[in-house]
Amino acid sequence: MRRTRHATVISLATGLLAFAVAAAGWLVDGGESPVLRPLGIGAALALGILATLQMASRFRQEEIGRRLVENERQLRSIIEASPLPITVTRLSDGALAYANEAAHALFKGSVAESTGLYAGAFYADPQERRRITRLLRRRGEVKGVEVVLKDMRGNRFWANLSVVNILFAGEPATLATMSDITDWKSRESELRHLATTDPLTGISNRRHFLETASREFMRSQRYGSPLSFILLDIDHFKNINDTFGHADGDEALRRLVAVCAEVIREVDTLGRLGGEEFGVILPETTVAAAAEVGERLRQTVETTGFDKTGDNIRFTVSLGVAGSCKGDKEFDDLLRRADNALYEAKRQGRNRCVIDCPEEP
Ligand code: GH3
Ligand code: MG
Ligand code: MG
Repeated sequence: MRRTRHATVISLATGLLAFAVAAAGWLVDGGESPVLRPLGIGAALALGILATLQMASRFRQEEIGRRLVENERQLRSIIEASPLPITVTRLSDGALAYANEAAHALFKGSVAESTGLYAGAFYADPQERRRITRLLRRRGEVKGVEVVLKDMRGNRFWANLSVVNILFAGEPATLATMSDITDWKSRESELRHLATTDPLTGISNRRHFLETASREFMRSQRYGSPLSFILLDIDHFKNINDTFGHADGDEALRRLVAVCAEVIREVDTLGRLGGEEFGVILPETTVAAAAEVGERLRQTVETTGFDKTGDNIRFTVSLGVAGSCKGDKEFDDLLRRADNALYEAKRQGRNRCVIDCPEEP
């Protein structure tokens, strides 16, 4: 704008100067002066050129303006026609500048109501918006981030969000497209639960338990901290099934898990390794301390029966305890030693806790 005004002033000044010079030439000798006449013609030519340039520049600016308006009109039509929810947020104050019908439906509020609201208010965790803004600044675009948003009624939902920088109404803004992935997320967590959990007892299945155990093993190696493992197996479990039926056998498995969960700490992990065999990972625990936990488990199971169908069902467990030793390379080393100890407990007559490798790391 300032440049246009400058050019106008210069053109007018040059024009006036040229007119003055031409007029002076005419007045001095009726337009016959050998100096003033060419000067006048030159100045008139310069005026013509400057005026033409000035007009061309003005036309260009008007054209750019027209194109901007047209682009914005097209952008609005695209946003409006999109079945995907789209919002535009001003960068200067973070206020929502525009939202299409699909966004209106997603956020369960009218576009007019929400326009002007701080866009951060739509994030369940305002930190998330700051994180996305930082990413956008660094990368120029953000694609497919999963965030929890809030609709106009305060209900939370999961959204897959992509954001790009645009110019909107001549101002820097961000354009966000999003889709509601709440159903997909809950199905994903159901699947994860199914893939990691034992359906009968609700604790970690073998695969997930061994993954957790490997992670804990690596952590203990890195920090040089102790790690222990207890392997337990119900004694003569086949007899429970044969005597009371499979359903009571199942109930015995659930009762054992409940007893273990009460005895072990929050940081310990309990998992079903298969059939009536369970494992407990005890991070930051020496083998001596783990042996105490094992003995407490044995005693508690021995004294806890259950009475489901009028029968007082009682059972015992045998346990093998192993602690991490120097030279251990993987969790399997502990597993193998605990298995040997369990075998020894069975061999010695069951309902006992045998410790392997009392050596500290
Ligand atoms: P031991 O003292 O030597 O461990 O003998 P045991 O009878 O406990 O061991 P065995 O391996 O002979 O039998 C285990 C039984 O556990 C056989 C199998 O039918 C039963 N079983 C495995 N999974 C389940 C289950 O999910 N529910 C029920 N009710 N029984 C199961
Ligand atoms: Mg058994
Ligand atoms: Mg077994």
